[in-house]
Amino acid sequence: MNGSAILIIASIIYSMCLFFVYRSKQHIDTVEHKIFSFLISLNFIGLINELLNYILVLNFKDSLITFIISKCYLWYLLTFIIIFTYYIIYISFSNRERMVKFIKNKLVNIMMGIYFICLLLVVFLPIHFCNTQGIYSYGASVNIIYVVSTICLLTGIICMFLNFKNILSKKYLPLLSFLSLGIVAMAIQKLYPSITLTTSVETFVVYMMYFTIENPDIKLIEQLNIARAKAEQANAAKTDFLSNMSHEIRTPLNAIMGFSNILLEDKKIPSSAKEEINDIVMASDNLFEIVNGILDISKIEANKLEIVNNEYDFTKLCQELISLTKGRLGEKPITLKMAIAPDIPKYLYGDSQRIKQVCINLLTNAVKYTKEGEITFQVDCIRKNDVCRLIIAVEDTGIGIKKDNINKLFNKFERLDLEENITIEGTGLGLAITKKLLDLMNGKIVVQSVYGKGSKFTVSIDQKIVEGSPKQEEVKKSKPKKITKKGRILVVDDNLINLKVAEKLLESYHLQIDSVTSGDECLKLLRSKKKYDLILLDDMMPKLSGTETLKIIRKEFQDLKTPVVMLTANALTGMKEKYLNLGFKDYLAKPIDKQELDRIIKTYL
Ligand code: ADP
Repeated sequence: MNGSAILIIASIIYSMCLFFVYRSKQHIDTVEHKIFSFLISLNFIGLINELLNYILVLNFKDSLITFIISKCYLWYLLTFIIIFTYYIIYISFSNRERMVKFIKNKLVNIMMGIYFICLLLVVFLPIHFCNTQGIYSYGASVNIIYVVSTICLLTGIICMFLNFKNILSKKYLPLLSFLSLGIVAMAIQKLYPSITLTTSVETFVVYMMYFTIENPDIKLIEQLNIARAKAEQANAAKTDFLSNMSHEIRTPLNAIMGFSNILLEDKKIPSSAKEEINDIVMASDNLFEIVNGILDISKIEANKLEIVNNEYDFTKLCQELISLTKGRLGEKPITLKMAIAPDIPKYLYGDSQRIKQVCINLLTNAVKYTKEGEITFQVDCIRKNDVCRLIIAVEDTGIGIKKDNINKLFNKFERLDLEENITIEGTGLGLAITKKLLDLMNGKIVVQSVYGKGSKFTVSIDQKIVEGSPKQEEVKKSKPKKITKKGRILVVDDNLINLKVAEKLLESYHLQIDSVTSGDECLKLLRSKKKYDLILLDDMMPKLSGTETLKIIRKEFQDLKTPVVMLTANALTGMKEKYLNLGFKDYLAKPIDKQELDRIIKTYL
């Protein structure tokens, strides 16, 4: 047995392995895969055929069976080269829209035509065998294969050069290896006719194709799809759970925060008790912050947090921030300094609520992590056309942050330097939310800190400049700030404690307040022709929800002008818009914020 036979046998084993590896996987049904799948089988048949041919020419040179097997081998070579050329044309032009139709219909027909003509020539033209100086065949039918191979290879080279930019991309590797190895194989065969390498070269080309065809593992994709569906389900369940949790926690929190704030303002309460009440207020504020923080981070992670841009008064926002921070300073020996550059436009366009949230987080941290000294709130701006880049810096003389910890600052639930901070309340969510909010608004945050001396957080964010005063502002300005008449208000809530909280909070407005515990009772009152100036309606009530109650009101009392405001602990982002779309005039979240309640009363009464 000479080298050629050994090479053929090695190629057969190799081709078989490749065949089983390829077949063991599922594949996407693309044209490339169909061609590859055909070529891999064809190559296997070709190798067997070549081996048989070798044995037959060696032992039965002039027999009929040798003639048939040799012709079959020529058929194999012709088919391989035609299909391979089609493959090269396909990968070269299938990304060009106009060519796809041509390649898939007309080109297939043209190539089939050429293929059948050549096949007839191969079958009917003569073939001769040599088994003395090497084992090979020759004659007109063999020459046809040489001619077709040359034309096809030239076509491949043209395709490659027409896609000059992609010439080095991996999809041309099979062609490049076919060209280079083919020429070497032909040269060797010319010099030493006994060494036949063609089919082995083709095996190598098929091997190259296996690695260059995009070959995603379908099983893996299926598993990934299942995993993704499960993750989406889990995420939806998490969102549901969080929204329920939020509702459940906010409902009792409304009572705790409402009553403790009312008691704190009650002049009859002795100052000794006020300290404890103050602790309740602070603890409940903290709990409220945690609930909001967890909701915010989960909303951001579920891509559900939207940036809502509006026109706003920046100066006013700064004043609110300062008064809020002053309130948080308490008894601490800290001086709060404010430096707002005079060239900052008064009115800007952006998400004022989220910018406020970012600043509150930074200012609150400065207060929390500073024992004494100074906190500076500085705002500068760089104007360019109608955009103003706000540079907001919060600097403190607090405990500072260790160098190693700076990178961990924005990780969620990461609290640093716990030996120092053990007594300071926190969740480790504030800065994670701040960073994510800034990312959403295309803003940036930088931290500078010297451990033991203090920290400086600098935020930069672009906002559009609003020339003149915004429309909303004018509307607001035109609204009366004082309640001019004695109004009648109806509060509907199934939770008795929350009803009590609402009544208490409304007491100071000296209104006539009616309260009922169900949608049915609310409808009964309206049917009895009682007139109200404002209805505060809870949503999640047994039997008849607030939303259903409003629907009935709109149907039954079409002329009713009374504004109906949603009063709910269902306070996730987007809820306000949802309720406004359902026909509610306004929205008040629980725990009730006194300022918000004030706004609603002043707007509608
Ligand atoms: P929290 O304050 O609720 O713990 P944050 O995400 O706001 O969570 O802050 C994360 C950590 O970064 C804090 O636990 C604290 O260790 C550190 N940190 C944040 N701001 C400051 C600051 N101004 N000075 C010193 N350390 C700070």
